[in-house]
Amino acid sequence: MAKLSYLASASETRKVLERHGRGTKYSLGQNFLVNDSIIQKIVALADVNEDDVILEIGPGVGTLTVALLQCAQGVTSIELDPDLPEILAETTATWADRFALIENDALAVQEADVVAALDRIEATLTRTRPNKLVANLPYQVAATVVLDYFQRFPWLESMTVMVQKEVADRMMAQQGVKDYGAFTVKLGMYARPAGRFPVGPNNFFPPPRVDSAVIRLDRSSFVDSTGAPITDEEIEAACLMAEAAFVTRRKTLANSCKTYFAGRGAAGKAFVPQLPALFEAAGIDSRRRGETLTRAEFVALGHAYLSLAAQ
Ligand code: SAM
Repeated sequence: MAKLSYLASASETRKVLERHGRGTKYSLGQNFLVNDSIIQKIVALADVNEDDVILEIGPGVGTLTVALLQCAQGVTSIELDPDLPEILAETTATWADRFALIENDALAVQEADVVAALDRIEATLTRTRPNKLVANLPYQVAATVVLDYFQRFPWLESMTVMVQKEVADRMMAQQGVKDYGAFTVKLGMYARPAGRFPVGPNNFFPPPRVDSAVIRLDRSSFVDSTGAPITDEEIEAACLMAEAAFVTRRKTLANSCKTYFAGRGAAGKAFVPQLPALFEAAGIDSRRRGETLTRAEFVALGHAYLSLAAQ
């Protein structure tokens, strides 16, 4: 198969950086992809096609971006490093009419920034918002960004992201294993894993000290027993109960939740005596530990929390 990204080699990446007098920045998680077959696998797993408008976080010198531009109708990428826009203007020049860069911290980007970027794209797009996120994420913020974007951007139908292997493990963990925690439960309120493959350090320049994995997550609303999607308020309450249950994960639910609410100001302290009623209303034994609970049980705890807090 022909190469998807002409930048996908250590020599080409080095050349581009040197031409602009730049190096890689460890503090920004700059480990650039240098293996085209990994890029092809990412594009295939994300199922990128000409119907898609892609949101990318951290384009770097554009290695994955140019591959996405060849497969999708448009791409907008968010990059924090102020040294990279000049490089990206050069490396993506062939597809300039279908590309827009957002120069900002991914965690600060708002929907309006994304819409404005797509407005700047000259080619006619059939979508006003991206439907897929595809990225080799900066590992420092990867877990936060994935959850944050599923929460804030309902138009994102799927995310296919390169993350540290351990983060992928937490994203996919099943109840009862050590990787299953508050993050797994919260992410599970928005998405389901739909595929994964491992990526070793030698596929990057410079190689990171950790193993990586690409994981695809498809948006999937949590439904109640009647099949209706649960509300944002119910999701928030279930997420709050997940935090409470895992704040001291080796303790029972009763003790962990007590510690959690006692540390949440006067209102939290006032709620502590209601905890036995909360477990009773949810039908959950408070001697269990958080990692044994299913997502549906966290939703039940959330419901009980909302009705007791409203009294
Ligand atoms: N996509 C390129 C590739 O695959 O070769 C580069 C990926 S590199 C792992 C991560 C990129 O994210 C870097 O370009 C880095 O500057 C950028 N970055 C780091 N923190 C960021 C943040 N908070 N918001 C947006 N971009 C960020």
